[in-house]
Amino acid sequence: MTKKQKKLLWRILAAAVLFVPLYLISEGVVVSPLPSWAVFLLFLAPYLLAGHDILRKAFLGIRNRQVFDENFLMAIATLGAIVLGEYGEGVAVMLLYQVGELFQSVAVGKSRRNISALMDIRPDYANLETEAGAERVDPDEVEIGSIIVVEPGEKIPLDGVVVEGSSSLNTSALTGESLPRDVQPGETVLSGSVNMTGVLRVRTTTAFEESTASKILDLVENAASRKSRSEAFITRFARYYTPVVCVGALALAVLGPVFIMFTGIGRAAYPGPGAIWSDWALRACTFLVISCPCALVISIPLSFFAGLGGASGQGILIKGSNYLEALSRVRTVVFDKTGTLTRGNFAVTGVHHSPLEDQKLLELAAHAECHSSHPISRSLRSACRQEIDPRRVSDVREISGEGILARVDGVEVAVGNEKLMRRLEIDAKPCSHTGTIVYVALGGTYSGHIVIEDEIKEYSREAMDSLRAAGVDRLVMLTGDAESVAQKVAADTGLREYRARLLPGDKVACVEQLLSQCRSGQLLAFVGDGINDAPVLSRADVGIAMGALGSDAAIEAADVVLMDDDPRKIARAIKISRKCLRIVRENIVFSLGVKGLCLVLAALGLANMWLAIAADVGVMILAVLNAIRCLFVKNL
Ligand code: ADP
Ligand code: MG
Repeated sequence: MTKKQKKLLWRILAAAVLFVPLYLISEGVVVSPLPSWAVFLLFLAPYLLAGHDILRKAFLGIRNRQVFDENFLMAIATLGAIVLGEYGEGVAVMLLYQVGELFQSVAVGKSRRNISALMDIRPDYANLETEAGAERVDPDEVEIGSIIVVEPGEKIPLDGVVVEGSSSLNTSALTGESLPRDVQPGETVLSGSVNMTGVLRVRTTTAFEESTASKILDLVENAASRKSRSEAFITRFARYYTPVVCVGALALAVLGPVFIMFTGIGRAAYPGPGAIWSDWALRACTFLVISCPCALVISIPLSFFAGLGGASGQGILIKGSNYLEALSRVRTVVFDKTGTLTRGNFAVTGVHHSPLEDQKLLELAAHAECHSSHPISRSLRSACRQEIDPRRVSDVREISGEGILARVDGVEVAVGNEKLMRRLEIDAKPCSHTGTIVYVALGGTYSGHIVIEDEIKEYSREAMDSLRAAGVDRLVMLTGDAESVAQKVAADTGLREYRARLLPGDKVACVEQLLSQCRSGQLLAFVGDGINDAPVLSRADVGIAMGALGSDAAIEAADVVLMDDDPRKIARAIKISRKCLRIVRENIVFSLGVKGLCLVLAALGLANMWLAIAADVGVMILAVLNAIRCLFVKNL
């Protein structure tokens, strides 16, 4: 509990201690010689002790012309009850309302803390290597290119490359994945992972604000500010709702007695006109207490917040409640092939028709690709098994969806698919092998091709099944690769629909066409790896980037970021969103239902203040507890 919460708790306890004997006296359970005006004055002590801040806020609200809020409702209702002589009820309502407030602030604080614990990736310090030995400094003081030392058990404070030592890293805080990742010299390590076994010396490659840990925390912290439609609805609802109930209460207080006096119906139950007025005024106060909308106002944003937190604990970063809500309505999922359904680790399976030696052709191709981040270029570089010297390369031009043009050792090298060859009017020999064919042209003449093959991810098929089970009825794969490769991947993953040989622009057109085929209220998600599919990611209703750890482009372009590259997380994300929205709906129906019922009872004079406050605080507590369930999404 914070200091403020503790103070509120003490105020509640002290007010309750004062309140109980006074209540017993006022109800006649304990006989006392005090006159009733003295009892009234004594009641003011627990009332003000418990509720002075509510009264002050209500007063400030009136002065700032933002009259209608919960504070106003509570102030009017309790003051009204006290003026009407129901001191006990008035004070009790204030007291219990504060119990509810305390509970709610503890619950909200707790779930906020839970979320930051789930995302426990903020590094506290870095061991900077200096001439005088290791020095413990703030991570944001470390310059790019410095050497830091990470001991076992410490968090990696900045992204970098291992220069010495090997170890296992626990990346579960980043990815939700519990298997450790082994690293060796030359490999990159990301801030936020925990070094488990060996001492590592790391050369940093980013500044603190640009590091993975900071970016992810930024993203998670800003997520709550993008509101869902349900939240926007509640804000609008509260704006109209409170004035409407106030008018309703006023109408009840005036029209009830007027009706009785004019028609005479029910008049016999009252000793005189004064009794009629005060009875209906009290009903109006009860009405106000019941109508307090705090259950909704608190529980709905809390549900979304908890849902976002629960998802991030699973390595699924959702950039806002609006996207969480959108995910639940996704019925069409469109996939990019490379890096999404397949590993994106192409293995070279053959080099054909080359006038050069195979190794020489690979060397030239790999050099031409030296600046590209495309999975194909990464694979060619590792297949070439020799140090790439970027000084041999100049005039690099990457044509998205086609390939690369560059000058290597002064020779013009073109590396890409048949579209690139057609663009350059180079006559390339077709290849009978299945696999992705990378054609190479040197100095404008065709000089052979490299056949590479990708592997389908282990869980791609399972991912499709779980998406279908989650109610996604249309699954489509889009790829820039050749028809034969696309067909094979589709068959192996159990996909019925695919489109092949698409340029990045064609993918946008395809997605637009699929969007137009969605029924109204149903949404389309696109899943890609963020490499040359940023336009599609932003065109889809929900753009999901996967394997995004360390890829800035994907983190920028997507609405949902899957930290590791497990395609089963897509269905998981959808299920989390469904659960969250179900809980929101439960809370709306439950609180409005109970309130509606109590309002009717109050109008009929069948509910007293005790019932009113019990309904109000009780519904709020239940709604908040229900909302917190959104945090627990581990086994969906
Ligand atoms: P996908 O839809 O499978 O993700 P891309 O749109 O990234 O594919 O690329 C489509 C095709 O363009 C690839 O299959 C490849 O033939 C060619 N291509 C794209 N970038 C490169 C590159 N850097 N080097 C060689 N070929 C490339
Ligand atoms: Mg791609």
